[in-house]
Amino acid sequence: MTINEKTVKSERIYEGKVINLRVDMVELPDRKYSKREIVEHGGAVGVVAVTPDGKLLFVKQFRKAVEGDLLEIPAGKIEKDEDPKDCALRELEEETGYTTSKITKMLDFYTSPGFSNEVIHIYLAEELEQGEACPDEDEYIEVISLTLEEMLELIKKGEVKDSKTIVAILYYQNVLLQER
Ligand SMILES: [Mg+2]
Repeated sequence: MTINEKTVKSERIYEGKVINLRVDMVELPDRKYSKREIVEHGGAVGVVAVTPDGKLLFVKQFRKAVEGDLLEIPAGKIEKDEDPKDCALRELEEETGYTTSKITKMLDFYTSPGFSNEVIHIYLAEELEQGEACPDEDEYIEVISLTLEEMLELIKKGEVKDSKTIVAILYYQNVLLQER
């Protein structure tokens, strides 16, 4: 069943650096109307990065929206006209210092389709070479390497709260590693 919601009015509330906010008035099948508050986002990438000694790279950083430190896979937003794969390589290097030429798409998904079109592309980066991290001026990041088992334990204990990280790691464990 596909029920389209026809937009009858659209109001732009805010245009920002990371997101835009608009409110759409939509017409429902029974000719009723409803409002949809929508956050427009240009998309992002996340990277499951495997180091030469078999560990996975994570970054710990303060997230103002949730007022706390979160442990996440390296990630960032796609710049205008940037290829998601190039973005994954760029974010990996900026945040962790590691580079590679072996990068594979794992999956993509909508992070919060109830109110946003944000899509995130998850990549697997292997055969990493260590370099110098150079985070953005406004990013304060601690790089942490953990074994898959250590990360799974943190997820199990509820200590990992970032959804892309949980999805990516569980996909890596249950789909990708199962196929190898
Ligand atoms: Mg980032």
